Amino acid sequence: MTRIIAPGSALGVLGGGQLGRMFAIAARRMGYYVHTFSPDDDTPAGQVADVEVTASYDDLDALRAFARNVQVVTFEFENVPIAAVDAVEACTPVRPTGVALHTAQQRAREKTFLADHGFPTAPFARALTLDELWAGVQRVGTPAVVKTAAFGYDGKGQHTINSPADIEPVWNAIGHQEAVIERFVNLHSELSVIAARGLDGEMAEYVPFENRHRNHILDLTTAPAAVPEPTARRAVEIARAILEQLQYVGILCVEFFVTVDHELLVNEIAPRPHNSGHLTFDASVTSQFEQQVRAITGLPLGSTELLRPAAMVNLLGDLWADGEPNWAAACGFPDIKLHLYGKTDPRPGRKMGHLTALGRTLAEAQERVIAARDALLI
Ligand code: AMP
Repeated sequence: MTRIIAPGSALGVLGGGQLGRMFAIAARRMGYYVHTFSPDDDTPAGQVADVEVTASYDDLDALRAFARNVQVVTFEFENVPIAAVDAVEACTPVRPTGVALHTAQQRAREKTFLADHGFPTAPFARALTLDELWAGVQRVGTPAVVKTAAFGYDGKGQHTINSPADIEPVWNAIGHQEAVIERFVNLHSELSVIAARGLDGEMAEYVPFENRHRNHILDLTTAPAAVPEPTARRAVEIARAILEQLQYVGILCVEFFVTVDHELLVNEIAPRPHNSGHLTFDASVTSQFEQQVRAITGLPLGSTELLRPAAMVNLLGDLWADGEPNWAAACGFPDIKLHLYGKTDPRPGRKMGHLTALGRTLAEAQERVIAARDALLI
């Protein structure tokens, strides 16, 4: 039998962002203490944690001291340096492991892992030099998308190549960094499957969610995704197989492209809760954050059942461009749930919160959440 880390114990989170904040809220509700570690202070997660440690990820002594005060450590964003995770792992279990993080945190490694294990991806190539970029574009074909291999998210560090004339300018634009070249996919839609695997190998997944992006940033998520049943089933099978392959413990999101020919391709994997899963807070029996707590502590996983069709919109920093949004107007919709992630950071492109609506139908949920967001600007 698996030994559980019982409520009353302390859980550690590497990172201080919005996902850590919602993890901390879920964990504290269940009676756990939460310690966060990040280089910043007064972070969204630290504000609701019991203990906020502020130190550099290079400060291995601080990491070890943090690790010794908690029973298990997880993370909430994937750009934690692997040396920091190794230092923590030497003292305290890290779930998911540093190996899973290492695989997911660099696009070239991630794509290679997926391809090596037979998971479907868009045709891709890796490039460390300009010559390799030329060869990669030739192999993959145009139009192609070039993405920096490290520290890329939300479309940052992404460039399109339509013809050979674009290759050198793109190489310069990405600062001669290692890159992944991907065939541009004609998208029908984009899906995410958020799934958990427990210490004993038990797995549970949410139904696939459908995601729409604006400027490469997630804008709207609807659940369940409006895709044929075989597509939804296949996406879940792939997500489960990835969890199994990684012997994963924790919560993971698999992002999929659905091509215009209804083919499923894995875009990327996120070894943590996911933006699209924010709606699980209000729309599912167990939120992705509670599920993360359950998975890493060895508790049985919770029900992932969706209570009603649901829609979620991101509230980004530009919403604050003309001053404070009209919160009362948005909350005037009685079934809207407002989530804000701590101190407001008005920088454009910053994710600052989200709204979720439930509906009797998907269309109703979507209409409500968009009307509520529009009301914020009245
Ligand atoms: P990523 O940072 O890789 O998740 O990409 C952000 C968004 O850019 C994706 O959600 C897609 O909307 C778009 N995108 C990325 N790669 C491709 C591709 N190969 N073909 C078409 N669209 C893409």
